[in-house]
Amino acid sequence: MWSCENYPLELPESHPFPNRKYPLLEAILVEGGFAGHIQRCGTIAPEILESVHTRAYIQRVLNFSLSPDEMRRVGFPIGQSYLNRALASVEGTLCATKEILINGKNLAGVLAGGTHHAFADRGEGYCTFNDVAVCAHFSLYHSMNRILVIDLDAHQGNGTASIFANEPRVFTFSMHAEENYPRQKERSSLDIGLPIGADDSQYLKLLTEHLPLILDYFHPDLVFFQSGVDVLAADRFGRLGLSLEGLRLRDTFVFENLLHRKIPCVITLGGGYQKSHEAVAQAHAQTYFTAAKVLNDFRHA
Ligand SMILES: [Zn+2]
Repeated sequence: MWSCENYPLELPESHPFPNRKYPLLEAILVEGGFAGHIQRCGTIAPEILESVHTRAYIQRVLNFSLSPDEMRRVGFPIGQSYLNRALASVEGTLCATKEILINGKNLAGVLAGGTHHAFADRGEGYCTFNDVAVCAHFSLYHSMNRILVIDLDAHQGNGTASIFANEPRVFTFSMHAEENYPRQKERSSLDIGLPIGADDSQYLKLLTEHLPLILDYFHPDLVFFQSGVDVLAADRFGRLGLSLEGLRLRDTFVFENLLHRKIPCVITLGGGYQKSHEAVAQAHAQTYFTAAKVLNDFRHA
């Protein structure tokens, strides 16, 4: 798995984004026995972003010439640290994708990414470039024919849905709180809008009904999993009601269904906005520990 902590996300103490979740997550995973599996990535070559993003938008980000309105939509203070982090976040997901495409791994992941609110020509909602979209595009050019994006963040994957609206080789599946940001939803290949406060049983019923059908209908040869943990009841922005155990069951169901069908998966983090950065990091870590357990069980079955 890939860490972007060579380029830490630096924010003022008062900023609502829990930026310390990233180094805390890396520390928890090292403590949990993953030290030998974590590599740190560099920054992506900007021209690779052009497969998805307009050249004009990329240049505005690179030149720090986003308008005040564009900066307000993204939500981060613009500067060199912000730029490096935005570029590293896509590179981390690309490195994970290459582990699957080139090294033939079943599972690979990034300890960042899942920036699903980035559109071709603009960013919003703490997302500058769309890492999953760039890497899905990269995969299409490297022998993959059908790509599924499983977006289980509490917010709709509007940028990803928009970018692939006319791309039949990419199926976008988003399960999210219906009455939440973004107010104007895009059309994914399949959207499931959940009621505010949806609990474990409501959530898992819908996931277990729909995900196997998508997998059997679409037959993806690669999955990108946006594993946002803002679905937790304790989250400040997600407006859903999952418990940590519900989250573990969600992730277990996803990984078991993919491994049993021999579909490789790139894991990205997505959102998580509890007041405690430590709690968010623990929730993200649980996703990786769950992936490792399912993979281990599968190998020994
Ligand atoms: Zn979210």
